[in-house]
Amino acid sequence: MWKDRLSFSGLDRETDRAVTERIERLRAMGCGILRFAVPDMDAAETLGRLAALVSMPLVADIHFDYKIALRCLDFPIAKIRINPGNIGSREKVETVLGKAAAKRIPIRIGVNAGSLPPDLRKQADEGLSPAEALVLAAERELAIFDDFGFSGVLVSLKASSVQETIRANRLLAEKFPALPLHLGLTEAGPLVAGVVKNTAALVPLLAGGIGDTIRVSLSDTMENEVLAAREILAAAAEIAGGAGNSAVARRLGQGRGVSIVSCPRCGRSSFDTHAFTGRWLTRLYSLDKDITVAVMGCTVNGPGEARHADLGITGAGDKALLFRRGKALRTIDASEADAAFGEELERL
Ligand code: SF4
Repeated sequence: MWKDRLSFSGLDRETDRAVTERIERLRAMGCGILRFAVPDMDAAETLGRLAALVSMPLVADIHFDYKIALRCLDFPIAKIRINPGNIGSREKVETVLGKAAAKRIPIRIGVNAGSLPPDLRKQADEGLSPAEALVLAAERELAIFDDFGFSGVLVSLKASSVQETIRANRLLAEKFPALPLHLGLTEAGPLVAGVVKNTAALVPLLAGGIGDTIRVSLSDTMENEVLAAREILAAAAEIAGGAGNSAVARRLGQGRGVSIVSCPRCGRSSFDTHAFTGRWLTRLYSLDKDITVAVMGCTVNGPGEARHADLGITGAGDKALLFRRGKALRTIDASEADAAFGEELERL
């Protein structure tokens, strides 16, 4: 079977189909670009096959071997991730950058706090801040691109520390305001811890207008990474909009997509919001509509507390109530809740 991280080598064609279906599902959920680790030539060939099969822009993540980078550049990929400082001789770097430039394929430099060059690691141990060390490492790589006149470059600076990720990216954005930045944390942890850390780091950066793409790294499924990223973008857009920065809010997609509100455990709850939301989560997030959906725990307060929702559902006992903008649409048997909810959703 294919690996959850989409790092692969030598997949067969039958497995291609499972991979392409999952990629399309991720796209429907809001994933806009997908990175593949490409550790060898077999993986490069597989990536090439997939790139021709899916509508999702694919990124080839390459370490060290410039020949793999060159092979990936033969395919309709959106980007490669490789650090020129790791490629080797000047001729090899020139070959890769030349081919990428000819194909107009951008290159992302990835600098991680855990793999700084030895001299910068030493300086960081002696007092240089990790954020400054990350920026210095990126500047070295950027100097190589400059040397070759290659302009299609973007950078990611990643640490597992929330604070250092924010500092490093702010510092880099200050020094290079026009440089596209890809944001993320590394080793952010399992689902809950990872979502909290990613949110804490990415929301202030995005709301402040820093960042062009994001990846939420979790020790969890890609689907949850995508959902977390959507919510982070929505939260950042709301903050930017609230601060009067409508250009940033629009860029982050304020008001676009499906927003879900649902009740927690509550003493008044008489409708199983957790189970209902769980059943509908993926489908709701895959809808191409700009709507708010509410799954509320009680009929007393639910319609009122979710009066901004385009469609809401709540219930009591063997009955369920569907409402729109705080007003009742219809009352049905609880056993028909899913079917009726689906019908009303179609009407929106
Ligand atoms: S709508 Fe009802 S169930 Fe939900 S939080 Fe309010 S009081 Fe509790």
